[in-house]
Amino acid sequence: AIPIITIDGPSASGKGTVAYLAAQKLGFHYLDSGALYRLVALRALQDNIDASDEMQLAEIAGKINFSFENSLVWLDGQNVDSAIRAESCGEFASRIAHFPALRAALLQRQRDFCRLPGLVTDGRDMGSVVFPDAALKIYLTASVEERANRRYKQLKEKGINASMPNLLQMLRERDQRDSDRALSPLKQHIDAQLLDTSSLSIDEAVKQVLDSYAA
Ligand code: C5P
Repeated sequence: AIPIITIDGPSASGKGTVAYLAAQKLGFHYLDSGALYRLVALRALQDNIDASDEMQLAEIAGKINFSFENSLVWLDGQNVDSAIRAESCGEFASRIAHFPALRAALLQRQRDFCRLPGLVTDGRDMGSVVFPDAALKIYLTASVEERANRRYKQLKEKGINASMPNLLQMLRERDQRDSDRALSPLKQHIDAQLLDTSSLSIDEAVKQVLDSYAA
C-alpha cells in the first residue's frame, strides 16, 4: 500500500505547515485539502453562486481545473494563492463544506493525490473519510488563544493589523461551524493520535509526526 499520513485539526492550528514540512522531509507528495474547499468557494464567489445552491457548488467541485505547482495554488492557469487564503474565502468555504454532494464531488479528486512514494495530507476528515486506511493519523490542535496568536503574527508579517478579540471570535465561530455539521465534522478520529502544539515549535511538531511515523 502507498504510505499516507493524515493530519486533521482546526483552523490555524499549524497543521498545514507541519504537514508540508513532514512531506518534504519524507519526499512525499502533499495535499492541502482545505485549498480544494477554498477553490470551490473562490469560483462560487466569482460566479455569484449562492451559498445554499448545493447542486451548482457540487458541479463546480467536480469541474474546477486546478493545480498545485511551485507551492502555489492555480485555478484555470491563474495564481490564486493569496485569493484563496483571504479570510472571506475561508469563511465561505466553511459555510458550504457541509453539503454532501460537494464533499462527494471532491472525494475522488482528493484520493487522486495518493501516489508513490507516499502522501502527507491535512484537513478535517482526511483520516476519517478520505483516507481511512492511512498508515498514521494525527489530530493536530492548539488552544484557541495560541491559534489566534499565531494568526495575529502571520497577518502582522503581511503588514495587516488584526484585533485579537476579533480573531478569537472568528476562530471560535469557525470551529463551531466545522464541528457542528452532520457530515465529516471536525473531531479527533478514534484512531488518530492527538498532537497538541500549544507549546511546541513547528520543528518540534514536525519531529513528533516523523517519530510517530517511524515507530
Ligand atoms: O483548512 P482550511 O481553513 O483551509 O479549510 C477551509 C474550510 O474548508 C474549513 O473551515 C472546512 O469547513 C473546510 N474543509 C473541510 N474538509 C477538509 C478541509 C477543509 O470541510 N478536509
